[in-house]
Amino acid sequence: MSASADRESAGEAHGSASEPVLSVRDLRKRYGDAWVVDGVSLDIRHGECFALLGPNGAGKTTTLRLCLGLVEPDGGTIRLAGHPVPAAARRARANVGVVPQFDNLDPDFTVAENLLVYGRYFGMSRAQIESRIPALLDFAGLANRADARIQTLSGGMKRRLTLARSLVNEPDIVFMDEPTTGLDPQARHVIWDRLRQLVARGTTLVLTTHFMEEAERLCNRIMVMDRGRIIAHGAPRELIAREVERHVVEVHGDGLDEWAERRAPALASRVERSGDTVFLYTPDPAGALSALEAESGLRYMHRAANLEDVFLKLTGRELRD
Ligand code: ADP
Repeated sequence: MSASADRESAGEAHGSASEPVLSVRDLRKRYGDAWVVDGVSLDIRHGECFALLGPNGAGKTTTLRLCLGLVEPDGGTIRLAGHPVPAAARRARANVGVVPQFDNLDPDFTVAENLLVYGRYFGMSRAQIESRIPALLDFAGLANRADARIQTLSGGMKRRLTLARSLVNEPDIVFMDEPTTGLDPQARHVIWDRLRQLVARGTTLVLTTHFMEEAERLCNRIMVMDRGRIIAHGAPRELIAREVERHVVEVHGDGLDEWAERRAPALASRVERSGDTVFLYTPDPAGALSALEAESGLRYMHRAANLEDVFLKLTGRELRD
């Protein structure tokens, strides 16, 4: 029996402080003939904010569900909050919060009742949960909505409540599947603010997202997945510096086709086309900018390279369904 299995059978929770809060080795999952998770390994330490990025169908949600013990793996090992998963998934989940992709609040209950019912799943007493509700509602910005019905809440309020609900058991780590999908920019900023508060308190966050800006703003570490495999990994700035040129000039307007063919290649180290825009990637934009100034029909915008440029370079620009 291994040392970790020994600890597990002795009923020791959490593991040591230096142990990663989530540790995954060579994780695999197959549906039919397709490996949707194909050899994923990762370690997440306490206090990190970690994002899993990838196009639709990359395997992000399946990876999260495997880590939570909600899907049976076909290979590999997972250790979450000091427990092996799926063998001791229930014990692991006692220290974990989950914000699913789609809000699954109970419409038959009020805001406060939703927190109460959720806390009961963790075996918490009514008194214990009730003592936490004011702080949770405060965190969600719903202090004056305790008795409101779920149907009366906006999309942003529901998301904030789902986030607050995931904290009812005071988890060490919170998993969030696309925490701001479907929200307007104002509501998204409020969620970002709350997530920053959680990180500042030392809660470990693992999120999937389609929004590169979200990952870049919030996360200290990022993994890009495609077709079940990890294709890049690092801090956002590190990835940008490693994978793409520092400057981007986006060009569009009259005469783009001819200009893109005849002039653009000499002005950048990499030229990409997406719809009616040409992207020039270059370590030094001076030449491209002065050449573009002389072009009357074209419009252009110069900006610093960002995580989206990394993502598009690594995963391509064609649509994924
Ligand atoms: P992502 O979250 O990156 O969009 P998913 O993990 O949801 O990707 O899905 C990865 C692939 O696995 C997709 O092709 C999806 O259709 C497939 N898949 C996910 N769940 C199941 C399932 N329960 N049965 C069969 N195929 C599935």
